[in-house]
Amino acid sequence: MPTGKTPQGSPNDTRTLMTFIILAVLFTSILNMFLSAVTTRKVEEITYTQFLQMLEEKTVDSVEILEDRLVITQKSQQSPEEQGELHYFDGAQRYFTGRVDDPDLTQRLIEAGAEQYAPTQNNSPILSFITSWVLPFALIYALSSLIMRSVSKKMGGAGGPMSFGKNTAKIYAQKATGVTFADVAGQEEAKESLLEIVDFLHHSDKYTTIGAKLPKGALLVGPPGTGKTLLAKAVAGEAHVPFYSLSGSDFVEMFVGVGASRVRDLFKQAMENAPCIVFIDEIDAIGKSRDNQIGSNDEREQTLNQLLSEMDGFDASKGVVILGATNRPEVLDKALLRPGRFDRRVIVDKPDLKGREEILKVHGKDVKLDDDVDLHQVALATSGGVGADLANIVNEAALRAVRMGRSKVNQSDFMEAVEVIVAGKEKKDRIMTEQEKKIVAYHEVGHALATALQKNTQPVQKITIVPRTMGSLGYTMQMPEEERYLMSKEEILDQITTLLAGRSAEEIIFQTATTGASNDIERATALARSFVAQYGMSERFDMVGLESIQNKYLDGRSVRNCAEVTSAAVDEEVLRIIKECHEKALKLLQENKEALHRISAFLLEKETITGEEFMEILHQEPQKEE
Ligand code: ADP
Ligand code: MG
Ligand code: ZN
Repeated sequence: MPTGKTPQGSPNDTRTLMTFIILAVLFTSILNMFLSAVTTRKVEEITYTQFLQMLEEKTVDSVEILEDRLVITQKSQQSPEEQGELHYFDGAQRYFTGRVDDPDLTQRLIEAGAEQYAPTQNNSPILSFITSWVLPFALIYALSSLIMRSVSKKMGGAGGPMSFGKNTAKIYAQKATGVTFADVAGQEEAKESLLEIVDFLHHSDKYTTIGAKLPKGALLVGPPGTGKTLLAKAVAGEAHVPFYSLSGSDFVEMFVGVGASRVRDLFKQAMENAPCIVFIDEIDAIGKSRDNQIGSNDEREQTLNQLLSEMDGFDASKGVVILGATNRPEVLDKALLRPGRFDRRVIVDKPDLKGREEILKVHGKDVKLDDDVDLHQVALATSGGVGADLANIVNEAALRAVRMGRSKVNQSDFMEAVEVIVAGKEKKDRIMTEQEKKIVAYHEVGHALATALQKNTQPVQKITIVPRTMGSLGYTMQMPEEERYLMSKEEILDQITTLLAGRSAEEIIFQTATTGASNDIERATALARSFVAQYGMSERFDMVGLESIQNKYLDGRSVRNCAEVTSAAVDEEVLRIIKECHEKALKLLQENKEALHRISAFLLEKETITGEEFMEILHQEPQKEE
């Protein structure tokens, strides 16, 4: 993809250049003055008559004839033997006098036995100009560019030697993004709402003749990795217009006013290149609501104000459309969202099953797929995954195929890649003691059994006790048979029971508890809490909303909306649910202790078993009874 900095230099560049030149001239002048002060340190001015007198007295050792003056070096007062070897850096007294048009000068010098230095190399005007002006200039330039580069790097600017921090907005301009709607899968609704913008950029006259005003801006809202940035590029690609983008954090600098001037620059360039798309990524970095802040941020406020006034000021009929992206729409300032600014909201949500399959297809196009690849299965296994995850899974699968020395990616690569994304890479070299392995096996089979023995659960896909790099010592993978959007009360309770069954198995078999269950406990508790406080499923609190989620698109933490006392009561209710589910898990496993032993032994031997193998052993009638 062709990328580049904006072509034309801003007026600011000329200003910096001027500053630089003035500084360099000053510095060089001072340097020259200093140098001449040093070299003329021991030079004293005398009159021409005095000089002639010195010649008569034969005290002159040498005379240097310069353009405008004569520099006279006197014979040293030391012993006469050394006199001949004296030169002028040996501390002899030196004088100078103005150069008088004296045709007899050479004759006089010869008579006086003084050596004569005709124009020395110092006299070449070009050379002296170079040494005293050009060289220092070059030196200063090299130095300052070195310093500036490191400074601007620190400040996050991309400026070259001439940029002094300010206004080096990293405006990322692309003539053609090369991305089209075909590259964005599973976001049909979002694409549809953006189609109008594309059409507007194509035929803006069609709209203006009727008198229709098109939205100046649209805000792409959704969780990270769902393809917001990609969609914005696709809009530019579909409309064949240039794409100007800046990230919200680029605006926020340590100096007040920098952000605002970047906004100005961005809009100025965009207007010059209309029609085009201006994309402000992560707009919440500047668009944060101005109230409810402890200690307001001047810089951000100024930047935001500038953005607001630019959005009001520009003429939309020219065909400039501003797209913003954020995953925290609720923190945005109301002024940004009012009609005439980002008044359109395009939701870019996590893809559903079909969407995931399509995204996998889009990315699968770039790799060689084997015949056995079933992307539908992969999509099923990646519930909750976003576009970025899926792109990553396809790549991981391809990497694994290369590692395995295959020329095509097959289904096992995909399933392993899913696990790598979920749980990390296998850590075959980790050595666990036999006892630890046994505990992990029983723990995992506990989960799997609880799943299989309850009605409202998803089937087991795989059980493994091979440790993974992301900390798990083993895990039980479940896979839904179809995509689900709702979860019933019964399903939640069954899931909590399943989560607690791992530890329950440890308790039944080993009469102890290990740290391995911490993640299960965390998830079970969170579920139970939502059950009570968000989903209104407990009898005690009926349908009172006691908590709300803060950053919906960032899996944000919940905020309590109730009194301290009620909150304490919620904790009690959560405790009751956990206890009940724990009891249920213990009971289930006690009743099926024989199966627990049987399957755990099999798992210990095989280390990884599939869901089918699991079901087969589970339904095998115990041999003794037959
Ligand atoms: P966001 O800006 O929403 O955080 P990006 O647009 O940067 O996400 O997406 C990151 C990468 O994930 C993209 O470059 C693309 O490879 C992949 N991706 C995300 N969503 C999709 C999608 N809907 N279709 C195809 N690829 C996607
Ligand atoms: Mg993005
Ligand atoms: Zn567990």
